[in-house]
Amino acid sequence: MDLVFYNTLTRKKEEFSPVATESKTVNLYVCGPTVYNYAHIGNLRSYVFADIAYRTLGFAGYDVKWVMNLTDIDDKTIKGTIDKYGKDSGVRELKRYTEEYTQAFFADLDKLNIERKNIKFIKVTNVIPQIQKFIVELINKGYAYKADDGSTYFSINKYQEVFNNYGELVGDKFLEGKQIGAGSTGSPQARNKADEYTKDDINDFALWKARAPEDANIYWGHEILGDGRPGWHIECSVINYVAFGDKTVDIHTGGVDLAFPHHTNEMAQSEAHNDKPFVKYWLHPEHLFVDNKKMSKSLNNFYTLTDIKEKHFNPIAYRYILLQSSYKQTTNFTWESLEAGARGYENLKSKIERLKKSTGFFKSLLAKFSGGESSSAPEVSPRENFDKYLKDFQTKIGSLNTAAGLASLQGVLSAKDLTPAQKLVLIKKFDEVLGLELL
Ligand code: AMP
Ligand code: ZN
Repeated sequence: MDLVFYNTLTRKKEEFSPVATESKTVNLYVCGPTVYNYAHIGNLRSYVFADIAYRTLGFAGYDVKWVMNLTDIDDKTIKGTIDKYGKDSGVRELKRYTEEYTQAFFADLDKLNIERKNIKFIKVTNVIPQIQKFIVELINKGYAYKADDGSTYFSINKYQEVFNNYGELVGDKFLEGKQIGAGSTGSPQARNKADEYTKDDINDFALWKARAPEDANIYWGHEILGDGRPGWHIECSVINYVAFGDKTVDIHTGGVDLAFPHHTNEMAQSEAHNDKPFVKYWLHPEHLFVDNKKMSKSLNNFYTLTDIKEKHFNPIAYRYILLQSSYKQTTNFTWESLEAGARGYENLKSKIERLKKSTGFFKSLLAKFSGGESSSAPEVSPRENFDKYLKDFQTKIGSLNTAAGLASLQGVLSAKDLTPAQKLVLIKKFDEVLGLELL
């Protein structure tokens, strides 16, 4: 089965082959949530997409190692902890605060049939010594420096001298006409201490943020870096390193908004540290919109799975509507679209129910209990028919085109040249990828 992925890095559809060409193992890294609040259904679109990618790779015969970070230390988790536990909060309170949202996130994954047992989760606060070591190694290689404000920054200019590919993930002309790095302006104010910033601020960014009064007692000590905590971007570089070593990672995903600065900076940090390409295929699902704007906490235009359940919808119906559109397109969420999706999903399920009832299994059972043999000859259908439908699905899902995969499923349901038993086998197989709990 061929897999064809659109790679953000090359801006092309490429046939997938693992980094270790002889191997059937694939390393998949998915940027996980910041556990400072409940995930909204826009966030969850990114994880449903990752789950489809994971399942598709498995369907194609790969053994996938899926790793996801849980960002439990950043500006937002610190603020949330102090709001809840007070101004003396330390790492223990931070862990308690973020654990609640970690569990809520896990429950959301369960509801969407994203199987947690397939994912290795790594919390940032559990790899602080590895983060510190990685940063010190970047300093030793000349790619990072401790500034007067006590924080340690990544030097984009130094990186450019050696790699000359900063911002490649966003576009060939990304740096055109832009000044880069704190060095270019000579101004320390130009450095980025915040985790999130825009494309107009391509400045040296913080790897280790010196302890500040607003951090309360949430910090870790280090003899070279000093008291402080990691920046957001370094977390993912280090978790990749912890999970996969310095090998080029096969696939890395996260919502489109992460391409800059997060993934761009991850790539710079990791390539500087590992001296090899960081990731082979970058996959970026588009956003979920609401009223034609990106669903986000800051716009306060978001819904959670709890809202969906309160309106008596099955969360799997939400998964179903996501699969109906291409992950490369924004989707506008409305309650009407969910309602239509829920109807479509129920319809699909009842067709499958009828099919189950009509299979030979039930017929022979009935025949047995009624004491007679079934008079009609068993239905037969050539194996080629079965293979034709399977191939059709594989071709469509091989490019992660779930909408076409669903059409292929409908094709099986209405097929005249398949037996009910064959249909059920195909539905079961397709559902290994779709994850819609069809049987
Ligand atoms: P965060 O918890 O903010 O780090 O975001 C977790 C994931 O959700 C990231 O991969 C984001 O790119 C993604 N994300 C955020 N907003 C949306 C949205 N409206 N639609 C789809 N994905 C989103
Ligand atoms: Zn990340």
